[in-house]
Amino acid sequence: MGSPPNDIDARTPDRLAMGGLVDAHGRVVRYLRISVTDRCDLRCRYCMAETMTFLPRSELLALEEIAIIAERFIARGVTKIRLSGGEPLVRRDVGDLVARLGRHVGRGLDELTMTTNGTRLADHAQCLHAAGIRRVNVSLDSLDPALFRHITRHGDLAQVLGGIFAARDAGLRVKINTVALRGLNEHELPDILAWTVEHGFDLSLIETMPLGEVDEDRTDRFLPLTEVFADLSARFALTRDAHRSGGPARYWSVGDSGTRLGLISPLTANFCDGCNRVRLTTDGKLYLCLGHDDQVDLKAALRGGGIPALDAAIDHGLRIKPAAHDFRIDGATAPAVARHMSVTGG
Ligand code: SAM
Ligand code: SF4
Repeated sequence: MGSPPNDIDARTPDRLAMGGLVDAHGRVVRYLRISVTDRCDLRCRYCMAETMTFLPRSELLALEEIAIIAERFIARGVTKIRLSGGEPLVRRDVGDLVARLGRHVGRGLDELTMTTNGTRLADHAQCLHAAGIRRVNVSLDSLDPALFRHITRHGDLAQVLGGIFAARDAGLRVKINTVALRGLNEHELPDILAWTVEHGFDLSLIETMPLGEVDEDRTDRFLPLTEVFADLSARFALTRDAHRSGGPARYWSVGDSGTRLGLISPLTANFCDGCNRVRLTTDGKLYLCLGHDDQVDLKAALRGGGIPALDAAIDHGLRIKPAAHDFRIDGATAPAVARHMSVTGG
């Protein structure tokens, strides 16, 4: 049995009347993820192939267009925006976008956040904080420099740790994202949790999702978090935390440390009933579900007909938002969705 729709609260009738973002299943969309670029300076093995090809620059949304679309979503009830990618900090003008969207924090937008691989965080942390970002998610799949380099193909662990501590020192709350990988970092997950506790970070563990072709067979690397949780709960005092994000995460508190552990299990947990999010790609497509190909072209709408056409396209998107994802890792030869996570924005 599913949980009730995410947000049928006292404000819902008002939001509907005001052109708010309610889908055909009664779910209120409050969360927009924006992939500001599909490019990246790393090549994590579960995310993309070594020889990944990227979108031609001519197809990308201009920064001004991203801002206009984001502001339309804010006007229509989105209260949280996450900037992601690809690696958001490799886009040269991302600082201008952060500054512009940051002006909406406290004025319609409750929160502006970013997911980053941390390679350039040391240079950007203070500007992100000054613009109104208060939390960042940083991907870190190993604390072992050799394994980190192996998983990311190019990554320098010291550089990423430098970024993480620069973020903390700039006043940003840090959540570490770790993809649980069978035969790669599975032995290290308790150490990574202990390290986040030591430094006052939160930790989200993520199951690999079948998004896009990579050079490897993901089935071999898939590690169900039910298995990881059994191991962690034998070593740490984990108590269930009621926090919900409207996504596939379930949370636990780690003793009285203040660290929150999130388990993101799209393959082994049903979370779709409470889904509150949509995703904008760097070429202007609005994806309604990470695990489906349904999308509407907001770039074409905005360029062809301005704000009224943009609104109509967003409305159409809400009407076709799928009830649930179609993920499975069962030895199928093709990924469930051809798009890489770096295109949709993780
Ligand atoms: N480059 C940034 C980073 O790595 O944090 C932001 C984009 S990345 C696509 C966002 C998150 O998606 C990262 O935490 C990454 O580990 C995760 N990710 C990428 N591909 C994935 C996959 N196939 N399954 C599960 N998580 C994935
Ligand atoms: Fe780049 Fe992030 Fe994908 Fe790794 S997970 S290749 S850092 S986009």
